[in-house]
Amino acid sequence: MMTEYLGDRTEAILLDIEGTTTPVEYVFGVLFPFAKVRVETFLQTYGQEQAVQADLKLLQQEYQSDRDRGIAIPEWDESTITGAVPYIRYLIESDRKSTGLKSLQGKIWEEGYRDGTLRSQIFSDVRPAFERWTSMGKQLFIFSSGSVQAQQLLFRYTETGDLTSFLSGYFDTAIGSKKEADSYHKIAQTVNVSSDRILFISDIPDELKAAQTAGMQTLLSIRPGNYSSNSQGFQAITSFDSV
Ligand SMILES: [Mg+2]
Repeated sequence: MMTEYLGDRTEAILLDIEGTTTPVEYVFGVLFPFAKVRVETFLQTYGQEQAVQADLKLLQQEYQSDRDRGIAIPEWDESTITGAVPYIRYLIESDRKSTGLKSLQGKIWEEGYRDGTLRSQIFSDVRPAFERWTSMGKQLFIFSSGSVQAQQLLFRYTETGDLTSFLSGYFDTAIGSKKEADSYHKIAQTVNVSSDRILFISDIPDELKAAQTAGMQTLLSIRPGNYSSNSQGFQAITSFDSV
């Protein structure tokens, strides 16, 4: 077994998702288009439910604020439950970082995962690595800009089955930016492992710099479809097989 990078001192592995466990293309090429297509029937079916109404209320505030600021946006027809669809599709297309949108998309994806129309893609070496690392006693954590809810769904409904039993915790940007050292300090504190005993793997050198500043060990993930393979001096891997 190769443990080229994983010393005995490493107690935990912190993993990015996009470009590390999962093709970058999955989010933009599968998840976003899925939400865009499904939002209409989703609102027809669940639009009256309280949790969905709460998302719509947040989106309506956002819509109003967009209008007040004179942004050119599609009309929201309030006479029908699907009246928000053009505006929601606009937000998805523009990749708006919006609480209401994220929450609604999470519900749409959850329905897709549950009814089997959606399965998340992970690289083929991920499950074997999760098995190997946890059998060595390492704790595994996720740090991704997608919401914790979306992260849990992604690992519960993969093409190779449910991987959530291997994972000890999830972090999203509620803890801070992925490019700020402080976020990594907080994660180390939260999981109660000294930062120098945590290995962070990501495809983004700026994230590795932040983790390194916080004292973590780092590896750069180079995967098919990633934006860049410039390692900027970081130790790089192309598969978890070598870790
Ligand atoms: Mg990434």
